[in-house]
Amino acid sequence: MIAEIIAVGSELLTPFRQDTNSLYLTAQLNSLGVEVEFKTIVGDRLRDIVRVTSTALSRADVLFFSGGLGPTEDDLTREAVAETLGLGLRRDAEILESIERRFAERGWKMSANNAKQADVINGATVLRNDQGTAPGQWISGKANGEEKIIVLLPGPPHELKSLFESSVLERLRARVPKQVLASRVLKITGMGESACDARVAPIYKRYPDVSTTILAVPGEIQLHVSTRTQSAEAAEERLDKLVGDIEGELGDYVYSDNGDSLEQIVNYYLQMRNATIAVAESCTGGLVAERLTSITGSSRSFIGGAVVYSDALKTHLADVPADVIDVYGAVSEPVARALAEGIRKRCGCTLGLGITGVAGPTGGTAEKPVGLVFHALAGEHGTQVVKRNFAGDRARVRWFASQQALDMVRRKLM
Ligand code: AMP
Ligand code: MG
Repeated sequence: MIAEIIAVGSELLTPFRQDTNSLYLTAQLNSLGVEVEFKTIVGDRLRDIVRVTSTALSRADVLFFSGGLGPTEDDLTREAVAETLGLGLRRDAEILESIERRFAERGWKMSANNAKQADVINGATVLRNDQGTAPGQWISGKANGEEKIIVLLPGPPHELKSLFESSVLERLRARVPKQVLASRVLKITGMGESACDARVAPIYKRYPDVSTTILAVPGEIQLHVSTRTQSAEAAEERLDKLVGDIEGELGDYVYSDNGDSLEQIVNYYLQMRNATIAVAESCTGGLVAERLTSITGSSRSFIGGAVVYSDALKTHLADVPADVIDVYGAVSEPVARALAEGIRKRCGCTLGLGITGVAGPTGGTAEKPVGLVFHALAGEHGTQVVKRNFAGDRARVRWFASQQALDMVRRKLM
């Protein structure tokens, strides 16, 4: 079964609004074993929506529309789908009444254009929308002699999700062939994309029944593996085997095989080891603290720390000796080391992290170029310092630095 998602809305063709509904729908369809082979974004023009609908009918079995069901002039999905299918529209008295009631309950006056949200394509099943006025519609039947399912869903993401879960999921499950699409995400850090692929390609090529995608995201590589089988057990068993082979090859470069983020993993290890941590951050401006505290329960291991941007504060809050800064400069190995050791001692915790670097784009010198970052991790048995030269803009350098620092903690506690 092939699915196509059609996101309707002229705003989605501008730089200001992104189509996120299709991501949600793709995840839902995949979990039912249905693969999305096409996604289309189309503006609010009747002629264009008709064209796109007719193309989709020629290549997909399941068509999901999002958006264009509202009350305004430019909400044309109902009209376009009806026209393409050669079906009429009828105004549904019950829906009209529920829309009127919705307005009355809020003490608002319903403007006349709202009535068109009660228009239903002939033969469609109405999908009640508890979160908004425009209901969804489900059409199944033959088009050009082939069995098709066409689902119209409202654009606002919370309405689309709620409607999908309450009225679409089970209907669809009953129609799709029994199959399971199982997938895993392996996250790898500290290794480049090509180096990673060179090592794992010989492995995943031995699994032609598993589809493998390698994705580079800032500071990490993700390997997405998925397979389709009749039973969940068979799929999981197959993925277990592949993931085991890949982990055997990459070792501790793989930090997660269940989708967990690096900060989640670090938090998990901190708690497992009963360890506490404090940070003294310069160029990352609190990013490491932000990432660690984004995890629920982090208060058990994350003590706190300081953003020590100025030289004076490095000394004042993290006890970095002023003469060390004078001699080596704020971006240096000894200062990173002193930050980590100073904050660890000040806060009385198991681990101390110190980060100092040149985030750029200004402030670089021949000796200390933009992207140069020193990361230090102090523990009971000494301090480890990693020097890196990151490439990229300010946001990337800061992100890479936070990634490197968190990875040092992970590796220390593993
Ligand atoms: P509509 O149903 O076309 O009136 O859409 C209502 C609102 O839903 C729009 O203003 C967007 O904010 C949002 N929306 C529509 N389509 C999408 C989409 N594909 N992804 C995310 N948000 C959307
Ligand atoms: Mg719209």
